[in-house]
Amino acid sequence: MTTTAPTSVAAYAAPSAKAPLERTTVPRRPVGEHDVLIDIKYAGICHSDIHQARDGWGEGIFPMVPGHEIAGVVAEVGPGVTKYAVGDHVGVGCFVDSCRECAYCRQGLEQFCTQGMTGTYNALDKNGEPTYGGYSTHLVVDENYAVRIPDGLALDIAAPLLCAGITLYSPLRHWNAGPGKKVAVVGLGGLGHMGVKIAHALGAEVTVLSQSLRKKDDGLRLGADHYYATSDPATFETLAGTFDLIVSTVSAPLNMDAYMGLLKVDGAFVNVGAPEEPNALNMFSLINGRKTLAGSMIGGIAETQEMLDFCAAHGLGSEIEVIRAEQINEAYERVLASDVRYRFVIDTATI
Ligand SMILES: [Zn+2]
Ligand SMILES: [Zn+2]
Repeated sequence: MTTTAPTSVAAYAAPSAKAPLERTTVPRRPVGEHDVLIDIKYAGICHSDIHQARDGWGEGIFPMVPGHEIAGVVAEVGPGVTKYAVGDHVGVGCFVDSCRECAYCRQGLEQFCTQGMTGTYNALDKNGEPTYGGYSTHLVVDENYAVRIPDGLALDIAAPLLCAGITLYSPLRHWNAGPGKKVAVVGLGGLGHMGVKIAHALGAEVTVLSQSLRKKDDGLRLGADHYYATSDPATFETLAGTFDLIVSTVSAPLNMDAYMGLLKVDGAFVNVGAPEEPNALNMFSLINGRKTLAGSMIGGIAETQEMLDFCAAHGLGSEIEVIRAEQINEAYERVLASDVRYRFVIDTATI
């Protein structure tokens, strides 16, 4: 059952791999029984948008409308919708559907759905139609795959929480960052700066490990207690055996043995960055100290809601630079040059 006809909406898309993004229109499905129509207000630019728009991971579906850090207002609801009403502030993150039946979906770990989650863009939905992301004016999504953005959390600073925020919140919670714990965040970018804010709000003692001290003032302002340069070999001697948890946000290869040396006994090193090349590791770095090397990828719907509620309660949002849609290509270049503090957010009214 549907309430409205399919419609086409304005969007910014990469027409083909590596081509600059340009204004276009894309179809949105009719608002179904359990769907909400979202009037998108802001969409964050995630590093993975650039990877995919430039087909860095292969198999891209073009034209591609990136964007999985979406914040907006409910403009219409299907007749079966119970969670949301017109006017509610909502967000959509990295996926818009999953099988809903597997063990992981039932546990709220939809990001690990055995059938594969349906990506917010660059994916095919259950009907085989391409999904288009948040660089657009409107989105239709099942209410179960939207989350509520609490009052008091502005939509622009909330948008990046839908990917960057949950990507850091989930491992920090899973590995129990909190009072009495020493947590290091590797890299102070779009992901890392949220890691610092969230770990600090959770009560952990937070250290930033960054290539240089260039952003030290920012790191301390955002909530870090300590800030060290990884380009200085003395850092790895000074901090040997220090951390309960290290979360790495960097997508460059690291000297894993050196980082493992920074962990306490039973400490964990968790990757949320995704280096393209395999990383070498001497197993002695793990067995001496019963250490854990792990990974983590975004979070489920329930945990994403928990993260938004946590951020609202602690007054946390992303540090952003709002841009107009025609600045997207320029913003991509600046992200690649690490020239953003700390997230670009597109004002979708400019599309
Ligand atoms: Zn992302
Ligand atoms: Zn599933």
